[in-house]
This record gives sequence, structure tokens and C-alpha cells, in this order.
Amino acid sequence: MTEQTKKLVVIGSGPAGLTAAIYGSRADLSPVVYTGTAYGGQLMVTSEVENFPGFPDPVLGPDLMDRMRTQAQRLGATLIQEDVTGVDFKAYPFEIRTATDAVKAYSVIVATGANPKRLDLDSERRLMGKGVSNCAVCDGFFFRGKKVAVVGGGDTAMEEATFLTKFATSVVVIHRRSELRASAALQHEARSNPKIGFIWDTIVTGVLGDGRVQGVRLKGLKSGVETDLAVDGLFVAIGYEPNTRIFEGQLELDRAGYINVRNETETNVPGVFVAGDAHDHRYRQAITAAADGCKALLDAEKFLNKKLAVVS
Ligand code: NAP
Repeated sequence: MTEQTKKLVVIGSGPAGLTAAIYGSRADLSPVVYTGTAYGGQLMVTSEVENFPGFPDPVLGPDLMDRMRTQAQRLGATLIQEDVTGVDFKAYPFEIRTATDAVKAYSVIVATGANPKRLDLDSERRLMGKGVSNCAVCDGFFFRGKKVAVVGGGDTAMEEATFLTKFATSVVVIHRRSELRASAALQHEARSNPKIGFIWDTIVTGVLGDGRVQGVRLKGLKSGVETDLAVDGLFVAIGYEPNTRIFEGQLELDRAGYINVRNETETNVPGVFVAGDAHDHRYRQAITAAADGCKALLDAEKFLNKKLAVVS
């Protein structure tokens, strides 16, 4: 084993990556974490988090990530705030490159996450966390007794709309076509819910409100007519984009770009593990990502115990 070769490199610094770093430090693996220049993952653009165990009072997403970062550093993880620009998982030890450097590692945990797709409107950005959300499970609770809109026609949009009816008085789904993309079962569930209405062939061109969402501006794609609709919240559910482009040709990805896994955290390359939204398009929660980071580390540790016994 050479001095320069790291036992463990973690790529990503959301709950999955930092939990892997915390457990990795405690396992004496001296993890090196490439946090990305946009450190912290999706929680950095979340306002109050009320469902992370151990926080009886709401905690701000960025504060929660700061606590995880401090914990990882206190335990001995080295955090480097740079983007990984390329990897070579075909050679062993693996190579991880940034714009300024390259390191070798005996094991890697990929925790690069995913980003919800956005409508790409200035007003959407301005009111994110102030009535605009990408996560009904996280934020639905704040819309008790209110009227909300959901954009999208896929499985996520149907699930979000159905979930929101637990709190909201009414939910309107705004879809750019007149047919849903969602599976028959989820469509049926949403269509038969009396609290859910649909607006077809329509896009959202603006989110209205100063400090908080008060409505949305809609444009009928067939009529060309613009109208305003009063709502208290807008859930954008138009899909996710996993941050896996740098792994193309290195790891097996599915058609949507998520990393294929076997045995929970293993990729197709022995020694490279994955945790969180880079493979998980089902649960997508901070707590499930954190749990995944722990699992990936335990699997990486087992791998290293065998491997390093051979190479040292
Ligand atoms: P998706 O299937 O890609 O659907 C995205 C929806 O948003 C589509 O209806 C699309 O319209 C619409 N859309 C995309 N960009 C838009 C834009 N800029 N403006 C307005 N509308 C836009 O994404 P998803 O619903 O997140 O699902 C992703 C994957 O996860 C799918 O494979 C899905 O089956 C899976 N999933 C499964 C479950 C489950 O089984 N319980 C739950 C959630 C997700 P068009 O239809 O016109 O393209």
C-alpha cells in the first residue's frame, strides 16, 4: 500500500456522503471527501426540516448539513471543497480527478445525489422554500387547510398530489399535455381522489407572490391564453436528474442515469459503492440517504479488510 493511496474516497457531501465519512472516520479509514463546490446537497436549498429524528424543534436544512460536516471533521474526515471532474474505475487503485489534482483510492463511495428538475423560472427560484417545493413528504405538512398546485404528469406528480390531499383542502395538477405519463395505478388513485383536480395542456409561466406564494400564472398551450390561479403552494414534480454524468462509461447506469446497484450498495465495480439519491429514486429522504451512507461504508469496510490484507 503506498502512502498517497487513500483507503476511502467519498464523492458528495449530502447526508449520504457525510454519514459515510462519519462512519468511515470511526472505522479508522481516514476518509477523504470531495464535497463538490456546491457543498451539502439538496438540504442546502431546503428551509425548515421537521422530520429528521433527534431535532424536536425544526432545523434549517443548511444548519443540519453544517452539523453533519462539523461531526465528520471532528472525527477526522478530510473535506475538500472541489468538484470531481473525472474518475478511472477501470484501473486499481481507482483514480479520482479534480480540476487541480488526482488521487488514488482503494475504495470509493459515490454519493453525488440527484437534483429535482426545475421549471427554470426566476419567480420559482425566488420563492423556493417560501411556498415552492419539490418534496411533498418534506413540506406538505405546512399546507394544512391550504390550496396547492402540483406541476407534472408522471408518477412523482401523482404521488405528490395524492399525498398532499392529507393536508391541503384542494390540489390541482397542472400538466403540459392532456395525457398523464404516470402508471395506471397511480393515475387511478389520483383521478379518483375528490380533492384533486386537473388542468390540461397548460404550463406554469410564473409564480406569484412577494414574500410567499400567492398564486401561479398559467398559459394554455392550445389557447395561448394566460390566466392567474390563486394557490398557497406550488410543488414542482417534473422528475429528477441524478448527478452521475462523470460516471458514464465507468459505472453501470440505468436509462434515467441512476447507478445500478446489487446487494444494496455495490456497483458493478468491486470496491466502488453508492449511497443516496444517485441510485435511489424511490425514497429520496435525508434520513434514508444517511442510512444508505452507513450501509455503503460498512460494505466498503468489509471490502477493504479483505483487499488491504492482500495488498499491504
Ligand atoms: P417523469 O416520469 O420523467 O415525469 C415527469 C413529468 O413532468 C412528465 O409528465 C413530463 O411531461 C413533465 N415535465 C417534464 N419537464 C417539464 C417541464 N419543464 N414543464 C412541465 N412539465 C414537465 O418523472 P417522475 O414522475 O419523477 O418519475 C421518474 C421515474 O421514477 C419514473 O421511472 C417513475 O416511474 C419512477 N417513479 C416511480 C414511483 C412509484 O412507482 N411509486 C414513484 C415516483 C417515481 P410529459 O409527460 O409531457 O413528458
